[in-house]
Amino acid sequence: MTDPSNTTAPAKNIRVRFAPSPTGVLHIGGIRTALYNYLLAKQQGGTFILRIEDTDQGRYVPGAEAYIAEALQWCGMIPDEGPGFGGEYGPYRQSERKDIYRRYALEMIEKGVAYYAFDTPEALDAQRQADPNFKYGAAVRMSLSNGLTLSKAAVDEKIAAGEPWVIRLKVEENETIHIQDLIRGEVNFQTSELDDKVLLKSDGMPTYHLANIVDDHLMKITHVIRGEEWLPSTAHHVLLYRALNWEATMPQFAHLPLIMKPVGSGKLSKRDGAKLGIPVFPLSWKSDRPEDTVVGFREYGFLPDAVVNFLALLGWSPGTEQEIFSMAELSSAFSIEKISKSGARFDFDKAKWFNQQYIMATSDETLATMVRPIVEAHGHHPETAFLEAFCGLMKERVTVLPEFWENGYYFFEEVRNHDLSGIAKKWKKEQRPVFDQLLKVFSEIPTFDAENLKAATDEFMAQNELKPGDVLPALRIALAGTMKGPAVFDMMALLGKTAAVARLQHAFDHFDQAI
Ligand code: GLU
Repeated sequence: MTDPSNTTAPAKNIRVRFAPSPTGVLHIGGIRTALYNYLLAKQQGGTFILRIEDTDQGRYVPGAEAYIAEALQWCGMIPDEGPGFGGEYGPYRQSERKDIYRRYALEMIEKGVAYYAFDTPEALDAQRQADPNFKYGAAVRMSLSNGLTLSKAAVDEKIAAGEPWVIRLKVEENETIHIQDLIRGEVNFQTSELDDKVLLKSDGMPTYHLANIVDDHLMKITHVIRGEEWLPSTAHHVLLYRALNWEATMPQFAHLPLIMKPVGSGKLSKRDGAKLGIPVFPLSWKSDRPEDTVVGFREYGFLPDAVVNFLALLGWSPGTEQEIFSMAELSSAFSIEKISKSGARFDFDKAKWFNQQYIMATSDETLATMVRPIVEAHGHHPETAFLEAFCGLMKERVTVLPEFWENGYYFFEEVRNHDLSGIAKKWKKEQRPVFDQLLKVFSEIPTFDAENLKAATDEFMAQNELKPGDVLPALRIALAGTMKGPAVFDMMALLGKTAAVARLQHAFDHFDQAI
């Protein structure tokens, strides 16, 4: 087994492609496929290509291609070549390459490795009815309507008369196809199990199989890294490379393990996201159909680097304990050899853990730019310095960006609910005069910062024979409504003297009444 990422010899020019079909929103598994391709390319100084496989016009979804490009860019994976990204091997949209596919399909007919077939859908349905295991292949092709059973003149006549046709690959019988998969090792297929795949239809549209291998060849793809669901197609692909005499430059294959549901068995699906209320797509997508409307990792409040880090480890392991990797670190540590054969469970808590690590490591200045739209959506327009200080206080207390607001809204507006059961244990009405004195102390502090507030409170507690437990929980619940949150004096300093003192006073009145 060769692993290009582990060779020390200068690598040949690695060219990989991410080849999604714009048939809907790109699932997070697609982003992981793109990522592994990207990492290999970057590591080897190679080229990462985006190719849009839009030959299935019936399933084409407007906007899906733009979604793919935006999702890749959000994750920091800018294609070196692709539609809108330049490159010398374009066009990179398959719908713009129809003539190319037709040329190769005809070449295969000339060579006798493919043939025209004229069987109508009804005729094929009748065959399927008679035999549920019907497969258009060696066993039956000589009894059907095609270029192998009709004369050349009859074939030409049918085509000239405008009868619908397809071109099929002629799969030889009784052969074993060996594939050396970089992840799975040797995988074998028996040709007797394979059908004579349709390559091209009379409307000029190629099928996935033809377009995919023609493009991989012409775009000089060296490694095909894609989901496990494409492994069975690889047998036909090998036959196509052979049929076109391209075997010598056939790419190497690596089929990635599935991403599994967070709980239970089976592959992660769009429904899991809806059911569990978690994102399974990179970006949000709005559709007229509510079931097709999804929330993305971005809109849920994830940082792209955290998503990339999380996805990289979903199926690949560096073989060390290290968990936090920048994109550059990932590409230097990455190796196809260390991709697992078995499925990787989608653990959303782990995704949030990564996000938390990345939020904590982000500067207050940068966080403030991310948090501003969230705060503004609630009608507040704080000064930058205030917002940065807020982010600094909150960043160790959130896992996703909207939690800055949810857990820290009280820095922008009044506390909605005070934890009265928490305060009940601490608040004694007869102590109110003491708290009023403390408020007076606070109002007289010249520089209202955390250090001075702490010093003044310590002194006040010593003079009045109070313990921190008598004072601080009450202050905390008065300021934030809850026992959670940043340090009391940090909160007060950020709120500022006037707001903090007024808020405390107001809350004490409320406690007196409520308890
Ligand atoms: N168009 C296929 C897809 O949507 C590409 C599979 C491949 O990479 O060969 O995933």
